[in-house]
Amino acid sequence: MAELKINLDRCVGCGLCVSSCPAGALSMADKKARVDPDTCVLCGLCLGSCRFGAISIEKDHGGAADRDSYRDIWVFCEQRSGAVLDVGLELIAKARELAERRGCRVAALLLGRQVAHAAHSLIAAGADTVYLCEDAQLGHNLELPYAEVITRLIRSHRPEILLFGATAFGRSLAPRVAARVQTGLTADCTELDIDPDTGLLLQTRPAFGGNLMATIHTQIFRPQMATVRPGVLPAPTPDLTRTGEIVPVAPPEGLFDAVVLLEEVLTPPAASIADAEIIVAAGRGIDGHKNMALVEELAELLGGAVGCSRAVVDIGWAEYRHQIGQTGLAVSPKLLIACGISGSIQFLAGIGGAQKVVAINTDPEAPIFGVADYKIVGDCVEVLSALIARIKADRGL
Ligand SMILES: Cc1cc2nc3c(=O)[nH]c(=O)nc-3n(C[C@H](O)[C@H](O)[C@H](O)COP(=O)(O)OP(=O)(O)OC[C@H]3O[C@@H](n4cnc5c(N)ncnc54)[C@H](O)[C@@H]3O)c2cc1C
Repeated sequence: MAELKINLDRCVGCGLCVSSCPAGALSMADKKARVDPDTCVLCGLCLGSCRFGAISIEKDHGGAADRDSYRDIWVFCEQRSGAVLDVGLELIAKARELAERRGCRVAALLLGRQVAHAAHSLIAAGADTVYLCEDAQLGHNLELPYAEVITRLIRSHRPEILLFGATAFGRSLAPRVAARVQTGLTADCTELDIDPDTGLLLQTRPAFGGNLMATIHTQIFRPQMATVRPGVLPAPTPDLTRTGEIVPVAPPEGLFDAVVLLEEVLTPPAASIADAEIIVAAGRGIDGHKNMALVEELAELLGGAVGCSRAVVDIGWAEYRHQIGQTGLAVSPKLLIACGISGSIQFLAGIGGAQKVVAINTDPEAPIFGVADYKIVGDCVEVLSALIARIKADRGL
């Protein structure tokens, strides 16, 4: 943990630091500067304002010194307008699995304005405890007040692991929290596991331009923190009979934020392959723009969406919004039909949440077959045409 320190021997009582502090954490007493550690957000602005070198931020690396006092797995559950995002539920399910192996509990962090109604869905997904903090200042996804509440909770309860969804907000919030509690953060993980020997969280993510998967350990500092992309982990089946504890958390007095939200403009969400239950996906093996019509036709007959590999986007046979994978979208359909897709690690990084994979490929050694539940070795144009003809015949079309 870090702390703002004032060297009273050097402080001349000029008061410049007090006026520089946007959080109102500094004051004067007996002609010397004083800091309120509960209000200080460690932004560091006062360090620059002090001409006498009287202010410093000291890191005590408490997490490093005292690892055994950290326990349990926490998941930050982002919500929008009171609705918890699916990635929070996916992470709770994963946390539940990891907690069984680690012999610990799962807690969900639910912050916002009037969000208590969502707490039971987190317990149904696998949380034992929900820390619920409601405050008008938390009504919008603004990083500083959220980071403040989460940092205080970490300091008082000491979770061993803390997970965030790698949404735009999660990617912005998690590093702020990690910096405040002086720990590491592995961004954009595609898989999480527990090392059976050390009990450490194994945080796996693409590295070196996506050419290999790296597994990262946070050996010294606590909590071990990671963000995980939405859709790469399977969604849980809610168990409405589960019981758990909802712990109300009082928001700190006068939550500080340097950002003033003037207006929020909501755009209607476009249909995304990330939400599709059935996806027919094309790879370079579809061999030509004209054959994309077969992929579209099968997707339509099955009530699904069209996906593709990056190669198909690069060639110009489909738009980027259809791309699946590390630099595309992570998808979690019930059924994915991969047509002429080799199964590169970058593509596979986006389909970890798919429940059933059917692969059609002329090469029996294609890596996609390593993750397929049903393997069809053959020309995807022929197989697609046959499938479409069969479905149409069955439906009398
Ligand atoms: C940093 C980085 C990020 C990347 N991000 C992504 C990403 O998000 N998503 C992604 O998909 N890729 C991504 N890539 C690219 C990735 O490495 C592969 O190049 C890409 O996935 C290959 O697409 P593909 O499988 O369609 O094509 P190919 O690898 O060319 O495979 C074509 C397959 O089709 C088969 N085939 C050929 N003809 C037929 C036929 N008639 N019928 C059936 N099968 C046939 C072949 O046997 C082969 O297996 C990324 C790469 C990098 C470096």
